[in-house]
Amino acid sequence: MYKWGCDGSQQTTFKQKFLNNSDSDANIFQSLFVPLQLSCGHEKKLIWQNPLPSSPRHCRPIRIRFVKETADISKEEISYIENKINLLEPTQITQVNKKFLVKHVMMFTMVDAKVCNAATDTKSTMKCYICGATSKDFNNLSARKQINEDALKFGLSTLHAKIRLFEAVLHLAYKLPVKKWQLS
Ligand SMILES: [Zn+2]
Repeated sequence: MYKWGCDGSQQTTFKQKFLNNSDSDANIFQSLFVPLQLSCGHEKKLIWQNPLPSSPRHCRPIRIRFVKETADISKEEISYIENKINLLEPTQITQVNKKFLVKHVMMFTMVDAKVCNAATDTKSTMKCYICGATSKDFNNLSARKQINEDALKFGLSTLHAKIRLFEAVLHLAYKLPVKKWQLS
């Protein structure tokens, strides 16, 4: 299992000229992935788990380009990577008369609001990317909206969060049994 995503960055190019004037490194756009865990068989026996999934240590670039992050560039990058993911073949490992097949599952979960809105065709940052609600709808709790199920993988939209949302989340957490992180 891997997670992948993309994001852009920019810098001021003060007094830094290229030989060719049309070249520029003012903007960069990168897609990258992080391996999360390796499990075996139907019972998903854990063989390896990334001890620091948020650390850049296991983060690997897929493609880096000198282009500005726009909705079109983000969408182009997402479909480019998704096409490549669909072409992925299981990796074969042969070891003393035993053959292992490693299947790769890539999850598009490393997104910021900009990339998320581009991926879900949401034009405004003030609009929920899951149900399309805008500021005039957020206080209407009885309203039921059609949701975009594909967008659920990006998590809840913070636009729906009310002032005491985290208190509610904390209360839910109190009631759950204590879980342990695998130590080895
Ligand atoms: Zn919504």
